Amino acid sequence: GLMNAPVLQRLDRSMSSVTVPPPACLLRPLEAPLRYLFGPGPSNVPPRVLAAGGRPIIGHLHPEMYGIMNDIKKGIQYAFQTENKMTISMSGSGHAAMECAVFNAVEPGESVLVAVNGIWGERVAEIAERMGANVHKMVKAPGGYFTNKEIEQAVEKHKPVLFFLTHGESSAGLCHPMDGIGDICRKHNCLFLVDTVASLGAAPIYMDKQSIDILYTGSQKALNAPPGTAPISFNERACQKMFNRKTKPVSYLFDMTHLSNYWGCDGKPARAYHHTGPVSGFFALRESLAILAETGLEESWRKHKEVSGYLQRGLEDLGLKLFIPERDLRLPSVTTIAIPEGYDWREMLVYIMKNHQMEMTGGLGPSIGMVMRIGLMGYNCEKTNADMALQALADALKNCKKTRG
Ligand code: PMP
Repeated sequence: GLMNAPVLQRLDRSMSSVTVPPPACLLRPLEAPLRYLFGPGPSNVPPRVLAAGGRPIIGHLHPEMYGIMNDIKKGIQYAFQTENKMTISMSGSGHAAMECAVFNAVEPGESVLVAVNGIWGERVAEIAERMGANVHKMVKAPGGYFTNKEIEQAVEKHKPVLFFLTHGESSAGLCHPMDGIGDICRKHNCLFLVDTVASLGAAPIYMDKQSIDILYTGSQKALNAPPGTAPISFNERACQKMFNRKTKPVSYLFDMTHLSNYWGCDGKPARAYHHTGPVSGFFALRESLAILAETGLEESWRKHKEVSGYLQRGLEDLGLKLFIPERDLRLPSVTTIAIPEGYDWREMLVYIMKNHQMEMTGGLGPSIGMVMRIGLMGYNCEKTNADMALQALADALKNCKKTRG
């Protein structure tokens, strides 16, 4: 022919229909360094869970996938200590579960009571406000907690259809007492919604025994799965309310009438297409729940308590002050320390990342500028890791210039 192949190709490219060229950054290989994720999440993911997530994809509606989803359901029931059949995983992060709970359990105009003692109550209050609920907040400073008496008084006053409380307040490092609150809610015909994103597997929670009506968690904390899936469970009382609504939930994606069918929880023989679930994320979640089942919940709780206690003693030996004074109220997965006098916490965190490839974080929402946070969760929950974190902190204390004092 008149022109050889390379010339034709070049001509072709010059006459290309695309005006946006392939980005140069994508022509370089992916870089994702190995880091010690000793912050409040995500946590490091063990090789076994990474490998599960790396298996070949199957269809989200294949029978094998339904089997895997059924295993996940059983694993969540164990982790939550519940027999609720309405137990699923959201396709999305912890926020998907927060929105699912509120969108399905509450109708516009209904009263919702939210306990705010850190960022998570603030977030749920905003989610409820956005869908048109009549939101009442009981507010404490980060690290504060609510007595059962205070909760009962607020429930009596606002007559909410839903009361929200965070079990593991990761922005403050508080593990909130849970006993008796479910009974108060039941007595006043209110649903009890609990966030265990940062505490599940690290601190005891008993959904059925503690009369929790809706419970959710995340995948990326003590469960050690990658971020992006979020277990959630509804009991009979919650189902009664959410499946007898006058209005449809504002979200199609998070509508439990569809999700319950997709997860085979609605008793119907056929599961229909609703959305394409994150297949790899579910593989990984199943593996992380399998590890929890093999380890045993009680052993997992014991270990988090032991390692966090060890970390806390080491922090005090460094002269640091723990943010939560009451030992029993400290969250075993995420430990908060008061910012040491005269130090710039941002500088310390940057120093630790740069010199130790280790993530620790500052506060979040109302706790910004109040705390630094160290998380040792699941796979990372080892005394050797606590020692590494303590060494990194000691190094930062020595080398980060004092700004004042
Ligand atoms: N609740 C708590 C207690 C959390 O710690 C987090 C995550 N830091 C969330 C909710 C939100 O989860 P996600 O970031 O996965 O949406």
